[in-house]
Amino acid sequence: MAYSTESLKTAKASVQKFGVQLDRNRLSERSLLAAIAEPMISLDANLKVLLMNQAAQNLSGWDVGDAVGLDYRQVFNLQTSDDQKAVDNADPFALALAHKATVSTNNLHMVRTKDKLKIPLDISVAPSFNQASEVVALVAIMRDISKQQELERQRNEFVSTASHEMRTPVATIEGYIAMAANPKTATIDERAQKYLQKAHESAVHLGKLFQDLLSVTKIEDKDYKSERVLFNLSDLVLKTAGEMRPLANKKGLDINTHIGGATVGGGKVVVPAYPVYASPEGIEEVLTNLIDNAIKYTQTGIIEVIITGGEGSITITVADSGMGISKQEQKHIFEKFYRVNNDLTREQPGTGLGLFITRNIIEASGGRIWVESDPGKGARFSFMLPTVKKVAN
Ligand code: ADP
Repeated sequence: MAYSTESLKTAKASVQKFGVQLDRNRLSERSLLAAIAEPMISLDANLKVLLMNQAAQNLSGWDVGDAVGLDYRQVFNLQTSDDQKAVDNADPFALALAHKATVSTNNLHMVRTKDKLKIPLDISVAPSFNQASEVVALVAIMRDISKQQELERQRNEFVSTASHEMRTPVATIEGYIAMAANPKTATIDERAQKYLQKAHESAVHLGKLFQDLLSVTKIEDKDYKSERVLFNLSDLVLKTAGEMRPLANKKGLDINTHIGGATVGGGKVVVPAYPVYASPEGIEEVLTNLIDNAIKYTQTGIIEVIITGGEGSITITVADSGMGISKQEQKHIFEKFYRVNNDLTREQPGTGLGLFITRNIIEASGGRIWVESDPGKGARFSFMLPTVKKVAN
């Protein structure tokens, strides 16, 4: 294997930077490289290949003799999950060079030159500096994560199938309990009524848990990302708010929608269209989750659903006049299974998955979500989606 003295020096400097002490007499650079089981490559500051160990040669199908001196993109054709070339902010090498910092990613795959095989990678790129703190080289470890991804896929498929299968019997149980508890269809005493009511609540909770677990597996399978299409957000907001209104009214609350300044109540009002590129099913789930929470955690008042749009993005806000969320709790509510632990929250059924799912769906659509709240005065959940030019209806 022919390595230039300069490139070996660079590799050694980088390895030392990671805290490995090289002892010249016992460990040659070559054996050090060979001993690293993970694919390792080093580039110069112009992103040209300086060296590759045996594992990197096996991974890429390139011989080090042929690869040295080439732009690394010719050797490792890195692509994003949309099968686009990994450029600018998606290119970990360019980022490590620009920011002079270690950059890691596990969202890219390479398309191997010789057989066009797609190999998902976990990549970590570290810059190496000279005395003047200039980046002189980059050292990267690139791990093939195909097996790990396959295991995750199988686990996901199992949870998804199990949740799906369990939803049907739970819905049946829920239906029969409801029939048994209904004085029109069955005769039971008052005490049995109460027991059945509790059993019904638990069956509903279980059904919701399976539904949420299904949504989590969809997030992990990146389904919400692949289901993106162009649609009008105004229609979806009006439809979802309309469907949720009876639930709000039952609790003595109301839902108002404000779309680009037009307040929509009972009468027909022409509202502006807000085209977005996202998963309609996903965004409907987001709106349902946010409005459902607003209803659950509010005792009196009105829930407002507001769309405002700028040039590059659209913001949707769901605001309520309920119990609100403390600053401390705001940091955690988007985490998996997190529920605020107080008497008022405990009274409400919930899985703690709703906001986790919500955040992930929005991020898969290229947006972000945040919350503002004055405890005791209500909460405002807003999310931003990148827009596709606003058009009038
Ligand atoms: P849950 O199923 O418990 O509602 P979520 O993930 O949807 O789970 O919400 C997490 C927690 O955030 C809830 O348990 C609740 O304490 C708090 N929360 C969410 N929305 C609101 C809201 N509109 N007002 C007050 N608290 C809220």
